[in-house]
Amino acid sequence: MDTPAAAPLRLIPTDADFETLAAALEGEFYRDSTTRTLYATDASAYREQPQAVAVPRSVDDLKKLIAFANQHQTSLIPRTAGTSLAGQVVGSGIVVDVSKQFTKILEFNADERWVRVQPGVVRDELNLFLKPYGLLFGPETSTANRAMIGGMVGNNSCGSNSVVYGSTREHLLDVKALLADGSEACFTPHPLKGAFLPGMLRIEKSPLQGVGGETHGALEQRIYQETHALLSPAETQVEIRRQFPKKSIERRNTGYALDELIDCEPFTPGGAAFNFCKLIAGSEGTLCFLTEIKLHLDPLPPEHSGLLCVHFHTIDESLRANVIAMRHRPSASELIDHYILECTKENIEQRKNRFFVQGDPGAILVIEFRRDTPEAVQAAAAAVETDLKAANLGYHFPLLTGEDTTKIWTLRKAGLGLLSNLPGDEKAVAVIEDTAVDIEDLPAYIREFNEILAKHGLNAVHYAHAGSGELHLRPIINLKTAEGNRQFRVIAEEIARLVKKYDGSLSGEHGDGRLRGEFIPWMVGETVYGLMQDVKRIWDPNGIFNPGKIVDTPPMNEFLRYTPGQQTPEFKTYFRYPDQTVLQHAEQCNGSGDCRKTQLSGGTMCPSFMATRDEKDTTRARANILREVLTRSEQPNRFDSEEVKAVMDLCLSCKGCKNECPSNVDMAKLKAEFLQQYHDVHGIPFRSWVTGHFTRLAGWARMVPGSYNFIFGNKPLRQLANRIIGYHPDRTMPLMAPKTFTRWWKDTSLGLERQVVRDVAVRRPALYLFADEFTNFLDVEIGKKAVFLLEKLGYDVMIPADNLDSGRAALSKGLLKDAKKVADANVRLLRGIITDQVPLVGIEPSAILTFRDEYPDLVSDDLVADAKKLAINALTFEEFIARELDAKRITKAAFTTEKRLIKLHGHCQQKAVSSLIPGKKALSLPENYEVQLIPSGCCGMAGSFGYEVEHYDVSMKIGELVLFPAVRQQAAEVIIAAPGTSCRHQIHDGTGRVAKHPVEILYEALV
Ligand SMILES: Cc1cc2nc3c(=O)[nH]c(=O)nc-3n(C[C@H](O)[C@H](O)[C@H](O)COP(=O)(O)OP(=O)(O)OC[C@H]3O[C@@H](n4cnc5c(N)ncnc54)[C@H](O)[C@@H]3O)c2cc1C
Ligand code: SF4
Ligand code: SF4
Repeated sequence: MDTPAAAPLRLIPTDADFETLAAALEGEFYRDSTTRTLYATDASAYREQPQAVAVPRSVDDLKKLIAFANQHQTSLIPRTAGTSLAGQVVGSGIVVDVSKQFTKILEFNADERWVRVQPGVVRDELNLFLKPYGLLFGPETSTANRAMIGGMVGNNSCGSNSVVYGSTREHLLDVKALLADGSEACFTPHPLKGAFLPGMLRIEKSPLQGVGGETHGALEQRIYQETHALLSPAETQVEIRRQFPKKSIERRNTGYALDELIDCEPFTPGGAAFNFCKLIAGSEGTLCFLTEIKLHLDPLPPEHSGLLCVHFHTIDESLRANVIAMRHRPSASELIDHYILECTKENIEQRKNRFFVQGDPGAILVIEFRRDTPEAVQAAAAAVETDLKAANLGYHFPLLTGEDTTKIWTLRKAGLGLLSNLPGDEKAVAVIEDTAVDIEDLPAYIREFNEILAKHGLNAVHYAHAGSGELHLRPIINLKTAEGNRQFRVIAEEIARLVKKYDGSLSGEHGDGRLRGEFIPWMVGETVYGLMQDVKRIWDPNGIFNPGKIVDTPPMNEFLRYTPGQQTPEFKTYFRYPDQTVLQHAEQCNGSGDCRKTQLSGGTMCPSFMATRDEKDTTRARANILREVLTRSEQPNRFDSEEVKAVMDLCLSCKGCKNECPSNVDMAKLKAEFLQQYHDVHGIPFRSWVTGHFTRLAGWARMVPGSYNFIFGNKPLRQLANRIIGYHPDRTMPLMAPKTFTRWWKDTSLGLERQVVRDVAVRRPALYLFADEFTNFLDVEIGKKAVFLLEKLGYDVMIPADNLDSGRAALSKGLLKDAKKVADANVRLLRGIITDQVPLVGIEPSAILTFRDEYPDLVSDDLVADAKKLAINALTFEEFIARELDAKRITKAAFTTEKRLIKLHGHCQQKAVSSLIPGKKALSLPENYEVQLIPSGCCGMAGSFGYEVEHYDVSMKIGELVLFPAVRQQAAEVIIAAPGTSCRHQIHDGTGRVAKHPVEILYEALV
């Protein structure tokens, strides 16, 4: 056995040391305050500024980082998506983000059912790759669309299907890792029983190390040998078995999994082959740095599924029923409590998902069966129903299948949404949110749990994984107060004692991190905790890997994101933030990382991250920096911040986050607020002024449309003009119509053209068509077609005023003072004439939706009530048509019976503030028109964003993610529909195809 050499002196790294390191790395290295702030938090309650952030490009980079940490007093915090809930990736060392460069699927063997990946592969993306082969990697966290395999191994993650697939540990076959001395090691099932004998390892080859007879490094040998020595004594094994959570608890992430190791050979003769992977899963980056991970795969689950949604009068009944249900091999048994059911009654989105709820249940247990045939699903459900009735449990037993199951799962997930959306300083805090006990103990445990909370005047929502003995329970606490900080600790302590009483696991899935480490000695006793400290010392003698997690953690109520006595300063803002301040709105981001989804997961949020895969381009990054700056800046105007300006730069104001972020963080609104406040200090840049005053400038240009079009219709002149404004030279510019829409309207109203149409039209309901600035100056033909179409359909079309501006361009450039004037004027003009009988209908979604989205929070105080009324009656063209179709005032008879296929790309603001369903419905009016949604997010143009010289490349990259390839694939006869003027422009610039507004499509379909 090698004797460790005397530890060399480790010096505090100097600036020069960091610079030398940065220069030596192939990848990126940051020490600026913005980047360090971005990585100071994860999805937990913790916050600590790291010394630096590295985004390594190669294993060689990782080795250099390890050498640096060994030479200096610093540490490395491995990080992938950063969605940990217990502070696993928060620390003072160097955060090493492998989510950007270590993203390859390296090797796959369908026959042997395994895959080898780098740590930065997203779990859902791995399964998309595996699906065609009929395989999957089973464990599924709620964060599966962004959580990465490295993080899943680190936290030993699992999900609602854990009753079938267990946790990540059970699927971890081999890993390749860098050890604390920088050597590479492969951990794999070990065939030799005598593997721990000194010297044996020198001559062995690990399957992952290829051929050639490499010797194992000294540290690797020491790890084997010292672990052997540590765990061999019989009394040690007895103590581990006595102290660890009950074996029946499948979700267990308490400390290092020593109990799993001693179940292997040679400690348990006849046990599984020894494999350090069992220890590495759940070790939270504290033992080694993973570079390759080999996972076992399962066949895809049986095709047929059904959800038996049993209604109970109380939670207690449901938890007793859960025990019976689990005997029938369901694939999940999930709880929805009374509180969630109550809240969803008032929620427009969720109301439609409650269709199956009968009476006023105290709890519903959603029991999922997956079987090979529908009959087998029914039989399984019937058997549970019989058993529950015999036990006098449950009063209603609907079995739901097909599309209904999605609605039920959406309702089940509402719990998290409810908790994420609290507007003030009180937050649903992750502290005891994933304790797990034996399902037999769950009823009694939850009774006592609730008594503890009640004693502290707290309440919690109960939901999730009853089938695994783990309910998600988050008390609502204000961590900005001393009392909140105290409650945070006291609740953790008391629940830890309760979990121990039931021999449960303090963490079922989220891990210990720095949240629960302090209580591990309580959970496993001082002796076993001492063994865990030894494990850490053996693997990582200098403490360079993610120190302060699992063992030797700082007190759990220190280094929190919110600190006792911290004030939430008030700001004078341009927008209103109902029930909260602008800072509290930014604080609503809890770091869940949904904004790190990729284009493969679908959705819009967040296009900039999808294009760059940089943490700094997430909504989370923007919220993090804004929160920090508004909380800590010493500037007279705290919005006067170059840091915020930098992170906002790639925000497209697409509003994806407003809808898709579970906390509804509205970054477009925050960006506009920031920009106006920043302009107040620094003035308005020329390009922003030009873009924000589009309507005014277009009004001037229309006086000389010929000259305008001569310049922008001529490539060299356009390129010159673009350069002067700050637009990209390759970007084409929309041309001015010879006559504005309102001019045409006036002319035709007075003249014959429109009169003819009016005479033949059967006058029926009336509407005001919003002649927005884009329709008025650029898309005049669409405006005309809208008038003809609507009149043909029997509507009396009116135009409220000449040259109306929505304020959208001003909003997008943060010219809120101007936008407010526009909004006030519009509300004053329209409040008397727009009603539910005579709505305001808009052609350009981004323009009409300002009435619904921004105006109520922007207009002068005396206009708020009117703005809110107006918001309800301001409809997109598609919403209006769908509404009239439902009211049977429009029929299919007016349209062609020709067969056409339409591919619809929805506008981001439609998706965020309205929905694409009306568009689909409206375009399906012609009997044989089939409408399919393009699964695109943002097109990348986003108003003027895609024109801007420095944003052009990102804009086109976003277009290339889904939209452009989808459009290019379509045959010439397929109609591409895009309601947004920018989207149509982007589609044209990116693919050469002409996309049509739904107005045009329906107009052309008239018979
Ligand atoms: C809303 C919400 C719901 C959640 N639901 C679930 C759930 O259902 N089930 C569940 O299990 N978890 C859940 N989590 C927690 C979290 O999402 C999971 O643990 C997830 O697997 C973490 O993945 P990540 O990529 O974000 O990892 P990170 O947070 O980036 O890292 C996790 C750990 O892995 C370590 N690590 C990462 N890469 C490496 C590497 N290359 N080498 C060594 N160590 C490494 C890190 O140091 C860290 O300790 C939830 C979190 C949130 C916010
Ligand atoms: S912005 Fe929303 S989605 Fe992104 S991390 Fe914050 S809360 Fe989650
Ligand atoms: S508005 Fe769009 S680009 Fe900006 S943060 Fe939200 S999702 Fe991302």
